[in-house]
Parts: sequence; structure tokens; C-alpha cells
Amino acid sequence: MRPTSTTSADERTGAVLTVDLAAVAENWRILKRKAAPGCEVGGVVKADAYGVGMVPVAKALQDAGCGTFFVAHLDEGIALRAALGEAPRIVVMHGPNKGTERDFAAFRLLPVLSTPGQIERWRTFAETNDILMESLVQIDTGMNRLGLTQREFEKLMGDPAGFLGLYPLALMSHLACADEPQHPMNRQQLLKFRSALETFRGKFPDAKGSFANSSGLFLGPEYHYHFARPGVALYGANPVPGQPNPMIPVVRLKAKILQVRRVDAAAPVGYGASSMAPDGAKLATVSIGYADGLRRALSNRGHGFIDGIRVPIMGRVSMDMTVFDVSDVPESSLGPGATVELLGTEQSVDDLATSAGTISYEILTSLGHRYMRQYLGARPSAPGPKA
Ligand SMILES: *Cc1c(COP(=O)(O)O)cnc(C)c1O
Repeated sequence: MRPTSTTSADERTGAVLTVDLAAVAENWRILKRKAAPGCEVGGVVKADAYGVGMVPVAKALQDAGCGTFFVAHLDEGIALRAALGEAPRIVVMHGPNKGTERDFAAFRLLPVLSTPGQIERWRTFAETNDILMESLVQIDTGMNRLGLTQREFEKLMGDPAGFLGLYPLALMSHLACADEPQHPMNRQQLLKFRSALETFRGKFPDAKGSFANSSGLFLGPEYHYHFARPGVALYGANPVPGQPNPMIPVVRLKAKILQVRRVDAAAPVGYGASSMAPDGAKLATVSIGYADGLRRALSNRGHGFIDGIRVPIMGRVSMDMTVFDVSDVPESSLGPGATVELLGTEQSVDDLATSAGTISYEILTSLGHRYMRQYLGARPSAPGPKA
């Protein structure tokens, strides 16, 4: 007979990731209050809700009143439709890969159409199958990443058959520098978008606009349009770098100490012997490594916290383990079951990102799959008028 585990996940795990769904919902409400009247705030839950967990996050947002969700891939959209049921609007930002149009119709996923080819294929599909379905048309306003170029857009606008057969819910574009309010690109992109939307309404008078990501919501109401697409701010990262974070922290990460040692004489630590522990130093080997998303760039640079005491990473982060200098931590805080906090009240995702020389987005989307994940329930919505 095959044995089954009789221990708890809590006992077995090396590290615990706690996701506060009430905080996600509250962050959505904060953004909703920030949004201009007439702007519907959606939720971007692509990439497994930035590593935090797409299904629990999307359900919490849905309970809070969010009715529009954005994902990047078709498969994400299919999974989200299964989780949320028929009610919400789900937008797939990469649009259909060739031949996948019928899945968009079958699962009622709104495609974002970003190339003349995608537009042509969607039109052919819709006409052939007699399907009237909304879509979004994406234009590039200066980022040069995804969306019709200005020339492609003008060509389609100038052609009586251009965009024919489409039912565009909105024209969409994406900001390149929204987290830098003083950057001149913001206004340049806004002016291009404003003018393109005006032109677009020549063909589709009811077309709405979708322009702002998290940081875009903090650039002023003229950036908001009708469908805002915040992602990272929902997960607690700061959409206004350099200013106090208006969002509530969502993730907490604690890793278990495997071993504590005192070095009798100065001695090297970890792979490559890249760091020397001084004589008498106390070291803790902790069950978290780069395979869990603790970035190797934090070697000899990052730190965690034990009971509020800062503990520097010593030596290289390895795949499953990292050594911390715990010389300042009293023995009473290092007993069995003791943990090092990597993310939480002492250290935000933005703090850890800065130590690692990266951005909060990368810290979040790197969150490991070996963590035991705990989801704290969503708070019931505050009583008040329904949105
Ligand atoms: C990822 C993404 C967003 C969300 O951006 P945040 O900066 O995380 O708020 C919005 N729009 C598009 C097109 C995206 O790719």
C-alpha cells in the first residue's frame, strides 16, 4: 500500500506565503475612489494575478464588485471564465493567436486586436459564423510594444472597409512611463490617444477608451477614460514611487530556519565562498532559495527580519537555502519553528525589489510554487450604494 502523509502542510513546508484577499479587495476600492466618475476600474489578473493566485484573487475582486478582468493569454481567460461564471467581462490582451478565434466566442472572451492581421481574422471569423461580439482595438501611442502603429491605424480609418464588421467596445493603449509623473511621454501619449479616440468615434460613436494602468490612475482624471486596467497596485506595490504607498500590503512571506550555527573563527559562507563570517558570528540557514523566487541578486545584499530585527543575507542565495547573519537575534527567537520574514510589515515588495535591483512586478511574479499558500478571506463589502 502506498503511504499517505499524515502531517500538515504547515508542518511540511519550508516557507509560508500569506495572501490577504481582503487587502486586494480594499486596494481595488481605493483605486475605485481614485478613478474619475464614469471610469470603471477593472482588475488585471494576468500571470496568475502577478504570482499571487489568479482564482482566489479574481473571486475576491468579483465579490468586491469588480466586473471587468484583464488577462494576457487565452488560457488564462478560459480558466478565469470557469472560475467566475458568466457574469464578468473578461478581456484577453494578447488577442487571438491564429485559429483560436472560436475559443474567444465559446468562452465569451473579449479579444484585444492589435495588428491588421488579427483584425482581419477576427472579422472573417465573426462574419463566417454570424457572431456579433465586442472587441477592443489597441493602438500604439509611443511605447512601440503592442498595438496598431499610427500608420496602420490611419490606413484602417481611411479605408471604408477598415474595421468593418467589428463591434469595438473600446480603443485601448498603454502608457510607457506612468510611474514617472514628470515624464514628458505621459502627456505625448495622452494627446495621441485623445486624438485617435476622436477619430475612431467617427466610425464608432459609442467607442470607449481604456488607457490607465495602476500608475496611470495617479496621473490625473484626464488619463482615466472608461476602463482602467490596474494590476500591480491591487497586489500592494506602490504605484507612485518616491511617494508614500497609498496601497495596503497583500503578501507576507516567512521561511523556516533549518539550522543555526556559531562560527568559532572567521569562515567562508556558501557557494563560491563569496563572504566571510566574522569570528563568533551566528548564522541561520533558511529554507528558501532562488528556486522559490528569492532572487540570486540578493546574495550578500538583501536582508530579512526576525521579530523585527534586521538579518542580512550572507553569501550566495542557493537554490533551496539562504544563510542569514543572525548575530543580533536573541536565542529565544531562534528556537524550533522560528522563521525569517522576507515580505511583510518590515519589508515591502518594493523594498525587496530595490535590494534585488529589480521591480515589484518581478518579485511578485517570481513568488515560488513550493510555498504553502494561505489565503486570508475577503472582508465583506462596506454597506453603501451599490456600484
Ligand atoms: C500588465 C498590464 C497592465 C497592468 O499594469 P500595472 O502597471 O500592473 O497596473 C495594464 N495594461 C496592459 C496592456 C498590461 O500589459
